[in-house]
Parts: sequence; C-alpha cells; structure tokens
Amino acid sequence: MRMSFGLTFRTAKGRCVANLSRQCSRGSMGLFVPPSPPLDLEKVKELQHFITLSKRLLVMTGAGISTESGIPDYRVLCLDCGEQTPRGVLQERFEVLNPSWSAEAHGLAPDGDVFLTEEEVQSFRVPSCARCGGRLKPDVVFFGDAVSPDKVEFVHRRVREADSLLVVGSSLQVYSGYRFILTAREKKLPIAILNIGPTRSDDLACLKLDSRCGELLPLIDPH
Ligand SMILES: [Zn+2]
Repeated sequence: MRMSFGLTFRTAKGRCVANLSRQCSRGSMGLFVPPSPPLDLEKVKELQHFITLSKRLLVMTGAGISTESGIPDYRVLCLDCGEQTPRGVLQERFEVLNPSWSAEAHGLAPDGDVFLTEEEVQSFRVPSCARCGGRLKPDVVFFGDAVSPDKVEFVHRRVREADSLLVVGSSLQVYSGYRFILTAREKKLPIAILNIGPTRSDDLACLKLDSRCGELLPLIDPH
C-alpha cells in the first residue's frame, strides 16, 4: 500500500485572526482540540481495513493534523520577492518589534485561531521581508483567496491516481479542499473521514470517525 499526502489546507478568517499553533505545540494542545467521544475500537478496525485494502491511498489533511502530529507550523511569505521565512524565526522578530504586546485569548478555535480586537491589531508591528523589505503574509490560503493552479492540478493528479481517499482533520468547509472530494466522488473512490465533528462531506463517506488524529492514527498499521 502506498500512502501519499496531499495539501494541508489552513484557513484564517481575515486580518483580525492570529494563529497560536506555536503555543499549541508547546503542550497546551488540549485547549485547541474539541471534545471527542471515546475511541470506538470497531471504527478503528474499520479504518484499518479501509487502509489495508487500499493500494494507492490519498490522504488529504487539514489543520486538525498539523502540530498535533509534529508537522511544522506554516511559513509566513513575502508578496514581493517570494522569500519564505520559518515561523519560529519570524516569532523572534515579532517579539523584538512588539516587546510589550500580548494577545488576550477571547476563545480559541480548534485550529489555534484567536480573535483579536481592532485596537490589538492596529498596535501590532509587523516586520517586513528581511531580504527585500517587502510585505509578508502567512503562506496559507485565506477565505476568499485562491489556491495556485499548479497546486490544484497537483492534487487533481493525485486524486486521479488514487484508489481511495482518507480525509484527516478537516471539516471540508472551504471549497479549496471540498472540490477534491467531489472529484473523488465522481471517480467513485471510497472515502473515509477522520475529524471531530461533522464535515461537509459526511454523506459522501463510507466511513466517518469522530476522534482525535493524534490518538487514533498511531493505532493504524500503514502496511
Ligand atoms: Zn521579499
């Protein structure tokens, strides 16, 4: 069985949102993960069977798998020269530019997003690109933003090659990811979904598991 990973879709809801996934990876992860029912071992067996039967399994992941599974945080991107800066490096520059700034969390979303007041946003000093002085933005796809055509085609190719699709840690609310589910459905691929809470494609899946990715996936033998 060959397992290939597609895109990781991360979204933010406009400029009044900061992502706190760095804190998430420091051990307060429980704050960001919604409550989930106890592991259903029968469902785990069904997922194991689903994966074992697959010869070319495509895994599409969302924010629910990211830091919980050790995937590094995103890289904040220069709009002018394309330079990419690791999130950890940028964090140090944030702290130098904003020594007295601290965000007060007003309710954290499962993906680590936190809403900020307009005053907090306005007072925050954003560093410019260290290479060219250009404007930086997180290297993620925002609501209303477009995924680059080459990335879309890359995933469509992976869907065409796959014989089954596993969605991990995404509610598929954003069309950027949902469209690949529709393509998989047209191709009549069996679809399994691992996500806490309902997704946009539950009715298209032959198997749905409401469990934490980090708790369930280590139980699965990929071979
Ligand atoms: Zn630049």
